[in-house]
Amino acid sequence: MAQLLIKNIHMTDGRRKDILIEEGIFSEIEDPGTIRIETDRVIDGREHIAMPGLCNTHNHAAMTLLRGIGDDLDLKRWLKERIWPLEARMKMEHIKAGMELACLEMIRSGTTLFNDMYFMESDCVPFVDRMGIRAVLGEGFIDAYDEHLEKEKRAETEKAINACNSCSSGRVRPAVAPHSVYTVSEEGLRWCRDTADRYGCPIHVHLSETEKEVKDCIREHGSTPVRYLERTGLLGPDVIGAHCVHLTDRDISIMKRCGVKISHNPMSNMKLSVGGAFPMKSLMEKGVTVTLGTDGAASNNSLDMFQTMKISALISKQRYGVTSIGAKSVLEMATRTGYLSLGSDGGKIEVGRLADLILLDRNHHSLVPGNDHISDIVYSCSGSAVRYSIIGGEIVMDNGMVHREDDIIEDARKMASDLLSGDRRSQ
Ligand SMILES: [Zn+2]
Repeated sequence: MAQLLIKNIHMTDGRRKDILIEEGIFSEIEDPGTIRIETDRVIDGREHIAMPGLCNTHNHAAMTLLRGIGDDLDLKRWLKERIWPLEARMKMEHIKAGMELACLEMIRSGTTLFNDMYFMESDCVPFVDRMGIRAVLGEGFIDAYDEHLEKEKRAETEKAINACNSCSSGRVRPAVAPHSVYTVSEEGLRWCRDTADRYGCPIHVHLSETEKEVKDCIREHGSTPVRYLERTGLLGPDVIGAHCVHLTDRDISIMKRCGVKISHNPMSNMKLSVGGAFPMKSLMEKGVTVTLGTDGAASNNSLDMFQTMKISALISKQRYGVTSIGAKSVLEMATRTGYLSLGSDGGKIEVGRLADLILLDRNHHSLVPGNDHISDIVYSCSGSAVRYSIIGGEIVMDNGMVHREDDIIEDARKMASDLLSGDRRSQ
Protein backbone atom coordinates (compact mmCIF):
# COMPACT_ATOMS: atom_id res chain seq x y z
CA MET A 1 0.00 0.00 0.00
CA ALA A 2 1.53 3.26 -1.03
CA GLN A 3 -0.52 5.72 1.04
CA LEU A 4 -2.55 5.45 4.22
CA LEU A 5 -4.24 8.23 6.20
CA ILE A 6 -5.31 7.74 9.82
CA LYS A 7 -7.66 10.59 10.76
CA ASN A 8 -8.46 12.07 14.16
CA ILE A 9 -6.52 9.47 16.11
CA HIS A 10 -5.93 9.74 19.87
CA MET A 11 -2.20 9.85 20.67
CA THR A 12 -0.75 8.50 23.94
CA ASP A 13 -0.12 12.06 25.20
CA GLY A 14 -3.81 12.90 24.88
CA ARG A 15 -3.57 14.99 21.67
CA ARG A 16 -5.52 14.20 18.48
CA LYS A 17 -3.67 13.92 15.16
CA ASP A 18 -3.93 12.94 11.51
CA ILE A 19 -1.16 10.56 10.46
CA LEU A 20 -0.12 10.14 6.84
CA ILE A 21 1.95 7.13 5.85
CA GLU A 22 3.67 6.99 2.46
CA GLU A 23 5.91 4.21 1.14
CA GLY A 24 6.15 2.58 4.58
CA ILE A 25 7.26 5.72 6.43
CA PHE A 26 5.42 8.29 8.58
CA SER A 27 5.38 11.25 6.21
CA GLU A 28 3.13 13.77 8.01
CA ILE A 29 1.69 14.01 11.52
CA GLU A 30 -0.54 17.06 11.82
CA ASP A 31 -3.55 18.49 13.65
CA PRO A 32 -6.87 16.93 12.58
CA GLY A 33 -8.20 18.20 9.29
CA THR A 34 -4.96 19.72 8.07
CA ILE A 35 -3.77 16.87 5.80
CA ARG A 36 -5.90 17.25 2.67
CA ILE A 37 -4.84 14.48 0.37
CA GLU A 38 -6.65 11.66 -1.43
CA THR A 39 -5.22 8.34 -0.20
CA ASP A 40 -5.79 4.70 -1.14
CA ARG A 41 -7.16 4.00 2.33
CA VAL A 42 -8.41 6.07 5.26
CA ILE A 43 -8.82 4.77 8.82
CA ASP A 44 -11.17 6.69 11.12
CA GLY A 45 -9.16 7.04 14.34
CA ARG A 46 -11.85 8.63 16.54
CA GLU A 47 -12.38 5.45 18.57
CA HIS A 48 -8.74 4.37 18.63
CA ILE A 49 -5.47 5.16 20.42
CA ALA A 50 -2.24 5.02 18.38
CA MET A 51 0.98 3.71 19.84
CA PRO A 52 4.24 2.43 18.32
CA GLY A 53 4.34 -1.30 17.53
CA LEU A 54 5.96 -3.46 20.23
CA CYS A 55 9.36 -5.09 19.78
CA ASN A 56 9.96 -8.54 21.29
CA THR A 57 13.75 -8.96 21.50
CA HIS A 58 13.89 -12.63 22.53
CA ASN A 59 11.72 -15.38 21.14
CA HIS A 60 11.77 -18.97 19.93
CA ALA A 61 8.61 -18.45 17.93
CA ALA A 62 7.90 -21.98 16.68
CA MET A 63 7.75 -23.18 20.31
CA THR A 64 4.09 -22.10 20.37
CA LEU A 65 3.44 -25.69 19.30
CA LEU A 66 4.85 -26.83 22.67
CA ARG A 67 2.75 -24.41 24.74
CA GLY A 68 1.58 -26.00 27.97
CA ILE A 69 3.86 -29.05 27.80
CA GLY A 70 5.37 -30.10 31.13
CA ASP A 71 4.75 -26.68 32.63
CA ASP A 72 5.34 -27.38 36.27
CA LEU A 73 8.44 -29.56 36.08
CA ASP A 74 11.82 -28.23 37.17
CA LEU A 75 13.99 -26.80 34.39
CA LYS A 76 16.22 -29.85 33.97
CA ARG A 77 13.36 -32.37 33.80
CA TRP A 78 11.24 -30.03 31.66
CA LEU A 79 14.01 -29.82 29.04
CA LYS A 80 15.28 -33.42 29.17
CA GLU A 81 11.99 -35.27 29.50
CA ARG A 82 9.57 -33.10 27.53
CA ILE A 83 10.98 -30.33 25.36
CA TRP A 84 14.15 -31.84 23.86
CA PRO A 85 12.55 -35.17 22.79
CA LEU A 86 9.73 -33.28 21.06
CA GLU A 87 12.12 -30.83 19.42
CA ALA A 88 14.19 -33.72 18.12
CA ARG A 89 11.13 -34.94 16.21
CA MET A 90 10.11 -31.57 14.81
CA LYS A 91 9.98 -31.46 11.04
CA MET A 92 9.55 -28.49 8.77
CA GLU A 93 5.75 -28.75 8.81
CA HIS A 94 5.74 -28.49 12.63
CA ILE A 95 8.11 -25.52 12.61
CA LYS A 96 5.98 -23.80 9.97
CA ALA A 97 2.75 -24.32 11.92
CA GLY A 98 4.36 -23.11 15.17
CA MET A 99 5.97 -20.10 13.53
CA GLU A 100 2.76 -19.01 11.80
CA LEU A 101 0.80 -19.39 15.03
CA ALA A 102 3.43 -17.26 16.82
CA CYS A 103 3.28 -14.58 14.12
CA LEU A 104 -0.51 -14.55 14.39
CA GLU A 105 -0.35 -14.23 18.18
CA MET A 106 2.26 -11.46 18.00
CA ILE A 107 0.33 -9.50 15.35
CA ARG A 108 -2.89 -9.84 17.37
CA SER A 109 -1.19 -8.64 20.56
CA GLY A 110 0.63 -5.67 19.02
CA THR A 111 4.15 -6.92 18.32
CA THR A 112 5.45 -5.58 15.02
CA LEU A 113 9.12 -6.69 15.25
CA PHE A 114 10.57 -9.80 16.88
CA ASN A 115 14.01 -11.29 17.35
CA ASP A 116 14.01 -15.06 16.94
CA MET A 117 16.38 -17.95 17.61
CA TYR A 118 15.33 -21.46 16.57
CA PHE A 119 15.84 -24.22 14.01
CA MET A 120 15.21 -24.28 10.25
CA GLU A 121 15.01 -20.49 10.16
CA SER A 122 16.10 -20.33 6.50
CA ASP A 123 12.91 -22.17 5.49
CA CYS A 124 10.79 -19.86 7.67
CA VAL A 125 11.69 -16.68 5.77
CA PRO A 126 8.93 -16.84 3.08
CA PHE A 127 6.03 -17.53 5.45
CA VAL A 128 7.18 -15.04 8.12
CA ASP A 129 7.39 -12.50 5.31
CA ARG A 130 3.92 -13.48 4.06
CA MET A 131 2.49 -12.73 7.55
CA GLY A 132 3.65 -9.12 7.11
CA ILE A 133 5.46 -8.93 10.45
CA ARG A 134 9.01 -7.58 10.78
CA ALA A 135 11.56 -10.13 12.07
CA VAL A 136 15.21 -10.80 12.79
CA LEU A 137 15.80 -14.53 12.40
CA GLY A 138 18.89 -16.35 13.71
CA GLU A 139 19.55 -20.07 13.25
CA GLY A 140 20.23 -21.42 16.76
CA PHE A 141 23.94 -22.31 16.74
CA ILE A 142 24.65 -25.27 19.04
CA ASP A 143 27.80 -27.29 18.36
CA ALA A 144 27.92 -29.10 21.72
CA TYR A 145 31.72 -28.98 21.45
CA ASP A 146 31.54 -31.38 18.48
CA GLU A 147 33.56 -30.58 15.37
CA HIS A 148 31.19 -32.30 12.94
CA LEU A 149 28.17 -30.53 14.39
CA GLU A 150 29.98 -27.20 14.33
CA LYS A 151 30.58 -27.59 10.59
CA GLU A 152 26.92 -28.39 10.04
CA LYS A 153 25.77 -25.39 12.08
CA ARG A 154 28.12 -23.05 10.22
CA ALA A 155 26.49 -24.08 6.94
CA GLU A 156 22.94 -23.74 8.35
CA THR A 157 23.73 -20.31 9.82
CA GLU A 158 25.05 -19.01 6.49
CA LYS A 159 22.07 -20.52 4.67
CA ALA A 160 19.68 -18.67 7.02
CA ILE A 161 21.61 -15.40 6.62
CA ASN A 162 21.42 -15.67 2.84
CA ALA A 163 17.70 -16.55 2.93
CA CYS A 164 16.94 -13.50 5.11
CA ASN A 165 19.10 -11.24 2.95
CA SER A 166 17.14 -12.31 -0.13
CA CYS A 167 13.78 -11.35 1.42
CA SER A 168 12.54 -8.82 -1.11
CA SER A 169 10.27 -6.84 1.26
CA GLY A 170 13.25 -6.15 3.55
CA ARG A 171 11.09 -7.02 6.60
CA VAL A 172 13.01 -10.19 7.50
CA ARG A 173 16.67 -9.70 8.39
CA PRO A 174 19.31 -12.13 9.67
CA ALA A 175 21.14 -12.57 12.98
CA VAL A 176 23.89 -14.93 14.11
CA ALA A 177 22.57 -16.84 17.11
CA PRO A 178 25.12 -18.74 19.22
CA HIS A 179 22.82 -20.41 21.76
CA SER A 180 24.91 -19.91 24.94
CA VAL A 181 28.33 -20.38 26.54
CA TYR A 182 27.38 -23.91 27.64
CA THR A 183 26.31 -25.21 24.23
CA VAL A 184 28.84 -23.56 21.89
CA SER A 185 32.61 -24.15 21.78
CA GLU A 186 35.08 -21.28 21.94
CA GLU A 187 35.91 -21.89 18.30
CA GLY A 188 32.21 -21.75 17.44
CA LEU A 189 31.82 -18.45 19.32
CA ARG A 190 34.75 -16.92 17.44
CA TRP A 191 33.26 -18.07 14.15
CA CYS A 192 29.94 -16.47 15.11
CA ARG A 193 31.66 -13.12 15.75
CA ASP A 194 33.55 -13.29 12.43
CA THR A 195 30.36 -14.21 10.58
CA ALA A 196 28.34 -11.38 12.17
CA ASP A 197 31.10 -8.95 11.13
CA ARG A 198 31.29 -10.40 7.64
CA TYR A 199 27.54 -10.07 7.00
CA GLY A 200 26.93 -7.01 9.21
CA CYS A 201 24.21 -8.66 11.28
CA PRO A 202 23.47 -8.68 15.02
CA ILE A 203 24.36 -11.48 17.45
CA HIS A 204 21.61 -13.03 19.59
CA VAL A 205 22.78 -15.12 22.57
CA HIS A 206 21.42 -16.45 25.88
CA LEU A 207 23.54 -14.93 28.62
CA SER A 208 23.81 -15.50 32.39
CA GLU A 209 20.31 -16.92 32.64
CA THR A 210 20.84 -19.22 35.62
CA GLU A 211 23.22 -19.48 38.55
CA LYS A 212 24.29 -22.90 37.25
CA GLU A 213 25.36 -21.39 33.92
CA VAL A 214 27.54 -18.86 35.75
CA LYS A 215 29.06 -21.43 38.15
CA ASP A 216 29.80 -23.93 35.37
CA CYS A 217 31.41 -21.21 33.25
CA ILE A 218 33.66 -20.13 36.12
CA ARG A 219 34.66 -23.77 36.66
CA GLU A 220 35.35 -24.47 32.98
CA HIS A 221 36.67 -21.16 31.70
CA GLY A 222 37.76 -19.38 34.88
CA SER A 223 35.37 -16.48 34.48
CA THR A 224 31.71 -15.44 34.34
CA PRO A 225 29.89 -15.88 31.00
CA VAL A 226 30.12 -12.11 30.32
CA ARG A 227 33.89 -11.99 30.90
CA TYR A 228 34.38 -15.22 28.95
CA LEU A 229 32.45 -13.84 25.96
CA GLU A 230 34.41 -10.59 26.14
CA ARG A 231 37.64 -12.62 26.01
CA THR A 232 36.49 -14.58 22.97
CA GLY A 233 35.75 -11.25 21.24
CA LEU A 234 32.02 -11.94 20.91
CA LEU A 235 30.74 -8.89 22.79
CA GLY A 236 29.97 -5.65 20.97
CA PRO A 237 27.19 -3.11 20.37
CA ASP A 238 25.52 -5.51 17.93
CA VAL A 239 24.97 -8.17 20.65
CA ILE A 240 21.58 -8.86 22.26
CA GLY A 241 22.09 -10.89 25.44
CA ALA A 242 18.90 -12.63 26.53
CA HIS A 243 18.04 -12.88 30.26
CA CYS A 244 21.21 -11.49 31.97
CA VAL A 245 19.81 -12.21 35.43
CA HIS A 246 22.98 -13.30 37.22
CA LEU A 247 25.43 -10.45 36.64
CA THR A 248 28.28 -9.14 38.80
CA ASP A 249 29.09 -5.42 38.98
CA ARG A 250 32.11 -6.14 36.81
CA ASP A 251 29.90 -7.90 34.25
CA ILE A 252 27.66 -4.84 34.11
CA SER A 253 30.67 -2.54 33.55
CA ILE A 254 31.90 -4.80 30.74
CA MET A 255 28.46 -4.80 29.10
CA LYS A 256 28.34 -1.02 29.27
CA ARG A 257 31.85 -0.68 27.85
CA CYS A 258 31.10 -3.11 24.99
CA GLY A 259 27.67 -1.59 24.29
CA VAL A 260 25.87 -4.94 24.72
CA LYS A 261 22.06 -4.73 24.68
CA ILE A 262 19.98 -6.79 27.11
CA SER A 263 16.70 -8.58 26.46
CA HIS A 264 14.92 -8.76 29.83
CA ASN A 265 12.46 -11.69 29.96
CA PRO A 266 10.75 -11.46 33.36
CA MET A 267 7.86 -13.84 32.64
CA SER A 268 10.13 -16.68 31.52
CA ASN A 269 12.61 -16.04 34.36
CA MET A 270 9.85 -16.29 36.95
CA LYS A 271 8.18 -19.31 35.37
CA LEU A 272 11.41 -21.27 34.99
CA SER A 273 12.47 -20.08 38.43
CA VAL A 274 15.97 -19.09 37.36
CA GLY A 275 16.73 -17.64 40.81
CA GLY A 276 18.36 -14.34 41.56
CA ALA A 277 16.75 -11.09 40.45
CA PHE A 278 17.24 -9.07 37.30
CA PRO A 279 19.52 -6.13 38.28
CA MET A 280 17.37 -3.44 36.66
CA LYS A 281 18.54 -0.68 39.02
CA SER A 282 22.29 -1.24 38.49
CA LEU A 283 21.81 -1.58 34.73
CA MET A 284 19.83 1.65 34.52
CA GLU A 285 22.31 3.50 36.73
CA LYS A 286 25.20 2.33 34.55
CA GLY A 287 23.27 3.20 31.39
CA VAL A 288 23.16 -0.31 29.92
CA THR A 289 20.47 -0.68 27.24
CA VAL A 290 17.56 -2.84 28.42
CA THR A 291 14.86 -4.11 26.04
CA LEU A 292 12.03 -6.57 26.65
CA GLY A 293 11.26 -10.07 25.39
CA THR A 294 8.88 -12.92 26.08
CA ASP A 295 11.15 -15.92 25.40
CA GLY A 296 9.45 -18.91 23.69
CA ALA A 297 5.83 -19.79 24.37
CA ALA A 298 6.90 -23.00 26.12
CA SER A 299 8.39 -20.97 28.98
CA ASN A 300 6.05 -17.97 29.27
CA ASN A 301 3.45 -19.20 27.92
CA SER A 302 2.19 -16.15 26.09
CA LEU A 303 3.79 -13.89 23.50
CA ASP A 304 1.77 -10.88 24.67
CA MET A 305 4.25 -8.05 25.24
CA PHE A 306 1.68 -6.06 27.26
CA GLN A 307 2.00 -8.70 29.99
CA THR A 308 5.78 -8.47 29.79
CA MET A 309 5.69 -4.68 30.14
CA LYS A 310 3.53 -4.89 33.25
CA ILE A 311 5.54 -7.64 34.94
CA SER A 312 8.88 -5.94 34.21
CA ALA A 313 7.61 -2.80 35.94
CA LEU A 314 6.14 -4.68 38.89
CA ILE A 315 9.17 -6.89 39.50
CA SER A 316 11.42 -3.82 39.55
CA LYS A 317 9.06 -1.98 41.91
CA GLN A 318 8.88 -4.95 44.24
CA ARG A 319 12.65 -5.13 44.49
CA TYR A 320 13.72 -1.48 44.34
CA GLY A 321 10.66 0.54 45.34
CA VAL A 322 7.68 2.13 43.61
CA THR A 323 9.60 5.01 42.05
CA SER A 324 12.37 2.79 40.63
CA ILE A 325 10.76 2.61 37.20
CA GLY A 326 7.82 4.33 35.51
CA ALA A 327 5.36 3.28 32.82
CA LYS A 328 6.96 5.63 30.29
CA SER A 329 10.40 4.01 30.64
CA VAL A 330 8.92 0.52 30.32
CA LEU A 331 7.00 1.50 27.19
CA GLU A 332 10.19 2.97 25.72
CA MET A 333 12.06 -0.32 26.38
CA ALA A 334 9.30 -2.27 24.61
CA THR A 335 9.21 0.04 21.59
CA ARG A 336 11.95 2.47 20.50
CA THR A 337 14.82 0.89 22.48
CA GLY A 338 13.94 -2.57 21.19
CA TYR A 339 13.83 -1.36 17.60
CA LEU A 340 17.13 0.49 17.87
CA SER A 341 18.84 -2.49 19.50
CA LEU A 342 17.93 -4.53 16.41
CA GLY A 343 19.20 -1.80 14.10
CA SER A 344 15.71 -0.77 12.98
CA ASP A 345 14.52 2.86 12.88
CA GLY A 346 11.01 2.25 14.20
CA GLY A 347 9.30 2.11 17.57
CA LYS A 348 8.29 5.77 17.52
CA ILE A 349 5.46 7.60 15.80
CA GLU A 350 7.51 10.38 14.26
CA VAL A 351 7.94 11.76 10.73
CA GLY A 352 10.65 9.87 8.86
CA ARG A 353 10.51 6.67 10.98
CA LEU A 354 9.28 3.24 9.86
CA ALA A 355 5.48 3.24 9.91
CA ASP A 356 5.04 0.40 12.42
CA LEU A 357 2.17 1.20 14.74
CA ILE A 358 -0.84 -0.35 16.41
CA LEU A 359 -4.27 1.09 17.09
CA LEU A 360 -6.00 0.17 20.34
CA ASP A 361 -9.77 0.14 20.83
CA ARG A 362 -10.34 3.10 23.15
CA ASN A 363 -13.67 1.58 24.19
CA HIS A 364 -11.95 -1.59 25.42
CA HIS A 365 -12.78 -1.85 29.13
CA SER A 366 -9.07 -1.83 30.09
CA LEU A 367 -8.59 1.60 28.49
CA VAL A 368 -11.61 3.30 30.09
CA PRO A 369 -11.96 6.02 31.36
CA GLY A 370 -8.61 6.90 29.76
CA ASN A 371 -7.17 9.23 32.42
CA ASP A 372 -3.60 8.37 31.39
CA HIS A 373 -3.10 6.36 28.20
CA ILE A 374 0.52 5.35 28.96
CA SER A 375 -0.45 4.09 32.42
CA ASP A 376 -3.35 2.13 30.89
CA ILE A 377 -1.09 0.61 28.22
CA VAL A 378 1.49 -0.65 30.74
CA TYR A 379 -0.61 -1.50 33.80
CA SER A 380 -4.10 -2.26 32.55
CA CYS A 381 -4.19 -3.20 28.89
CA SER A 382 -3.57 -6.55 27.19
CA GLY A 383 -3.03 -7.56 23.59
CA SER A 384 -6.77 -8.13 23.23
CA ALA A 385 -7.30 -4.35 22.94
CA VAL A 386 -5.36 -4.19 19.65
CA ARG A 387 -7.63 -3.61 16.61
CA TYR A 388 -5.15 -2.61 13.89
CA SER A 389 -1.53 -3.59 13.32
CA ILE A 390 0.24 -1.57 10.65
CA ILE A 391 3.75 -2.63 9.67
CA GLY A 392 5.74 -0.63 7.15
CA GLY A 393 2.47 1.03 6.18
CA GLU A 394 0.77 -2.33 5.41
CA ILE A 395 -2.37 -3.15 7.39
CA VAL A 396 -1.55 -6.57 8.79
CA MET A 397 -4.50 -6.66 11.21
CA ASP A 398 -7.50 -4.79 9.85
CA ASN A 399 -10.16 -3.93 12.43
CA GLY A 400 -9.54 -7.21 14.27
CA MET A 401 -9.08 -9.39 11.19
CA VAL A 402 -5.83 -11.17 10.28
CA HIS A 403 -5.48 -12.84 6.88
CA ARG A 404 -5.62 -16.70 6.96
CA GLU A 405 -6.26 -16.80 10.73
CA ASP A 406 -8.59 -19.83 10.67
CA ASP A 407 -6.18 -21.86 8.51
CA ILE A 408 -3.24 -21.03 10.78
CA ILE A 409 -5.13 -22.12 13.91
CA GLU A 410 -6.38 -25.34 12.34
CA ASP A 411 -2.91 -26.20 11.05
CA ALA A 412 -1.31 -25.51 14.47
CA ARG A 413 -3.78 -27.86 16.21
CA LYS A 414 -3.19 -30.56 13.60
CA MET A 415 0.61 -30.30 13.72
CA ALA A 416 0.75 -30.19 17.54
CA SER A 417 -1.36 -33.33 17.74
CA ASP A 418 0.84 -35.00 15.10
CA LEU A 419 3.96 -34.13 17.12
CA LEU A 420 2.48 -35.32 20.42
CA SER A 421 1.09 -38.56 19.00
CA GLY A 422 4.65 -39.36 17.90
CA ASP A 423 5.68 -38.56 21.46
CA ARG A 424 3.15 -41.01 22.89
CA ARG A 425 4.18 -43.72 20.41
CA SER A 426 7.81 -43.49 21.49
CA GLN A 427 7.04 -43.62 25.23
ZN1 LIG B 1 15.45 -18.29 25.17
